[in-house]
Formats: sequence, C-alpha cells, structure tokens
Amino acid sequence: MTQDRIKVYKFGGASVKSAEAFRNLARIVKTQAGGQQLLLVVSAMGKTTNALEALLDLAHRQQAFEQEFLQLKSYHLQVLSELFPQQGHPVFQRLEHLFEQLHAQLAKTLPNDNFDTVYDQTVSFGELLSSTILHYFLEEQDLHNTLIDSRKYIQTDSTWREARVDWGWTERLIRRDVPAMLQEGLVVTQGFLGGTNNGLTTTLGREGSDFSAAVFAYCLEAEGMYIWKDVEGLLNADPKYFADTVCYPEISYQETVEMAYYGASVIHPKTIKPLANKQIPLYVKSFLNPEGAGTKICNCRFEVIAPAYIIKEKQCLVSFGVKDFTFISEQNLGTIFNALSELRIKINLMQNSAISFSICTDYHPERLHRLIQTLHDQFVIHYNTELRLYTIKNYDAASINRMMAGKAVLLEQRTRTTFQFVSR
Ligand code: ASP
Ligand code: MG
Repeated sequence: MTQDRIKVYKFGGASVKSAEAFRNLARIVKTQAGGQQLLLVVSAMGKTTNALEALLDLAHRQQAFEQEFLQLKSYHLQVLSELFPQQGHPVFQRLEHLFEQLHAQLAKTLPNDNFDTVYDQTVSFGELLSSTILHYFLEEQDLHNTLIDSRKYIQTDSTWREARVDWGWTERLIRRDVPAMLQEGLVVTQGFLGGTNNGLTTTLGREGSDFSAAVFAYCLEAEGMYIWKDVEGLLNADPKYFADTVCYPEISYQETVEMAYYGASVIHPKTIKPLANKQIPLYVKSFLNPEGAGTKICNCRFEVIAPAYIIKEKQCLVSFGVKDFTFISEQNLGTIFNALSELRIKINLMQNSAISFSICTDYHPERLHRLIQTLHDQFVIHYNTELRLYTIKNYDAASINRMMAGKAVLLEQRTRTTFQFVSR
C-alpha cells in the first residue's frame, strides 16, 4: 500500500505572507518531505482575506474600491517580483488574469445581491492567487507539482460562507485523481474553498483551510496531517494575551475539539472530526523551527493537563425578557431558538432565569438587527456588545483567579471541567 505514506501539509497565511516566507516554505518541503507523497494546502497570503472582505464591502455598498484593489494587487506583485526576478515568467500573466477576474467580480456587485453568495465568489480569490504563486515557485525550486482546483474536489451544498461538504462525492473525486498525481510529485491546492454542483464557488468558514486539509487527509487516508504555524505547537493560551504559555507535547482529539469550539483560534473547529474518524494524527509544528517537536494530536489520554485559557472576542450578550411577568417557557425558548437558527446566529453560551433568557454570541450587527426585528413584539430585548467570552478548560482556583482578576463579570457558568464568563 502506497497510500499510507501520504502526508498533508497545511500552510496558513503567515507562511506565505512574503517572498521570504515562500522560500522558507519551500525549504521545509525539501527537507521534511524526502520520500513522502505530499499534498500541500495553502491559505491566502498574509491578511489577504481581510482585505478582500473590505473590498467586497465597498463594492457591495457601491463605493469606490480602486485604491484598495491596487494595494492588494501591488502586495502580490511585490512578492512575485522578489520570487521571480526573471522578466516574462508565465506566473505574471496568470496573476494578471486572476486580478482581472477579481476586478470584474467586484465591478458587477450590486447592493441587492445576496451578500453571502457574492462573498464566496469574491473572497475566494485570495487562495486562487496564493496557490498559483506557490505552484510556480515550487516548480522553480525543482519541486515538481500539480496544481489542482479544490473547488472541483471539495463538493459542497450552497450554504454560503460555511458550506457543508458532500463527503460521498468529495471522496470519490479525490480518490479518483489525486493518488495518481501524488505518484508523480507534489500536489498543491487551495484551502478554504469548495464548489457546488453547478460550478459556483463556496467557502468553508473563516480559517477554514485547516478543515480543507483534513478533508483531503480523510479522503486519502493520509498517514498524518501537519499544520505549519508561527508558534511552537498547540499552546494553552494565545501568546497575544499571555506571556507564559505552555506547549502541549501530545493532546487528545477530544481536548483539541473542545478548545477550538470555545474559540482557541489555533485550529478550525471542524478539522478534528474527519481526522479522528480515521485515526489520522494531526501535528502542529512551527515553520520557524521545523525541527522542533511541536504537538501531536491523537487518540490519547492524560490524567493531568495544563489549564487552557481561551478568549473569544467580539462577543455580544443578548437577553430576552418576557413582557407580561409570565415565566420564560419552553414555548418562548422554542420561538427564540427558531429565530436564531433561521438567522444562523450561533450560541456560544446561554443561561435562563425566571423571566429572562440570555445568550452570548459572536457580534454580527446585521443579523442581530434582524433578530430584534423578528422578536421585538414578543420580548423585551437588551444587548451589550464589545464583550469577550473567557473560557478556562481544566481549571483550578489559581487559573480562575488569574483570568478573572480585575474584571466585571456579566455572566458566569461552570461545569466540572470548564469555567466560563463574559466580561469586557
Ligand atoms: N484565508 C482564509 C481566512 O483567512 C482561510 C484560512 O486562512 O484558513 O479565513
Ligand atoms: Mg488566513
């Protein structure tokens, strides 16, 4: 069986944010991949996805977007000119063509277009650009590779911006083509993107490239999946907030899934399930220190594990009160849950009391506005924004003290293993 030698590498935006980053990536592939069959999944360069979101926002509101468009283009061309100093390399024409298509897509966007649909058709260009550059650059480095369009392999429904994978189809397509390509050399593809059966582009949710890599790993029954990041491995806290983080050498799928669910930005929450189903280990490694041990995520169990601190930003606390001093009933809750599900508002935490029900959710101004419109006849609705949801997994007294110090708590909840509160 050759199959069990396949590895899937995922490179995020930071690992392709500059010419130097591309060179480092190529070095990793060269030194780590000897004798392996390797599929590379790549995200958009640096903060390109944010820039595309901003561009689309302008276009959708019929505002001028030329300046921002040129900025994004010149960022890509700058990296390109450093990677391909020789004039007339075919990659320049390919990029020019992609930027023309992106421009046309923005120019035809109208205010009453469904935002989520055009979002996927537009924001997907980030990965199309980065994967094209990576393909040609690796070729230049004598790393022969086939560039494939993940929209033709990861088949999804049309839940725009959060498309659901049609596993049966996807598996058939990947298994039909990709193993043979891997015999010939590397395979390069885009993270984050899928496609519908009528040829439209979908995206799998922000930071979804991890999930794309897991889909390929699952379908190819890979021996391992590797996420290359700018940190040592899976940490117990975001170094942005905590100076003294610890790196887990080994941790279970279960722990990791829960951390991702509570908002640890290290791995996309959907990534773990396909890997766990086929017992494919996930390695989180540093592209700055590729020899470092990193973290192995697998089917394992530990009695004691360092508390994990997770902070979810841009939260909003919404409370629904009944108007007539009756109690919150199952029927009331049913009405609220229906509206939430209809508007795709996800609950991160909830609590109910006699006469009110509160939820903590990600803040989407437009969805919140529609929620209030839908329910204001039946409930008195209050909300606070600019909040954070703090979670400690495997907490103890010291970790609670540490995280709560000096904070005014708006809502608090704990289970045997998890402590959570909402605060500014
Ligand atoms: N480029 C996409 C994003 O920034 C997908 C990813 O990076 O995983 O959300
Ligand atoms: Mg990214």
